[in-house]
Amino acid sequence: MTSRIGRLAAASVATALATLGVTVANPAPASAAMTICYNTSQAGSFAGVAGQAASIWNNATTNLTLSANCGSNLRIYQITGGGSYAIRTSLGNGRVYIDTQQAQQYSPLRIMTHEIGHILGLPDNYNGNCAILMSGGSAGTSCTNPYPSTTEANRVSNLFAGTRIATERATDSTGSQIFRDSWPATAVTVG
Ligand SMILES: [Zn+2]
Repeated sequence: MTSRIGRLAAASVATALATLGVTVANPAPASAAMTICYNTSQAGSFAGVAGQAASIWNNATTNLTLSANCGSNLRIYQITGGGSYAIRTSLGNGRVYIDTQQAQQYSPLRIMTHEIGHILGLPDNYNGNCAILMSGGSAGTSCTNPYPSTTEANRVSNLFAGTRIATERATDSTGSQIFRDSWPATAVTVG
């Protein structure tokens, strides 16, 4: 009786494996967009803001999708003091640090989308224009615009357009880089 049950169990396992084999053999659906998994386990009170920023970038761009709970291409941290900054290890990968004190002075969502912009390949552009996301703190504390300009969004889309990535990296160095001081503490005297 025991051996009969064992044979039945083995047959069941074999059936399950066969089913699994068929499933694995099917090709995965092709995805045109690169998925950038962001992790908010260390983002503290900024986890919600991170989600809003991800939606903004997803709506503004093509060729990439920021997605939660699927991995850690991008880790987001809440810190206190020292200023918000981004460390890009490669295009679409890195860490973003949001300073709680700074987020009481500047718009937390604008800080978040700006710092993620660095991870997505954008440099700083301190021209004081609030319509430019990468102008950061140069636009003053009254600027709360969290949206990339069309030019900024299109640039990110192009960077993630597959075949163009290598060329863009070579010509514009979107590789490893640290971006600090985008949000000056002396901003109250600006403008
Ligand atoms: Zn910056």
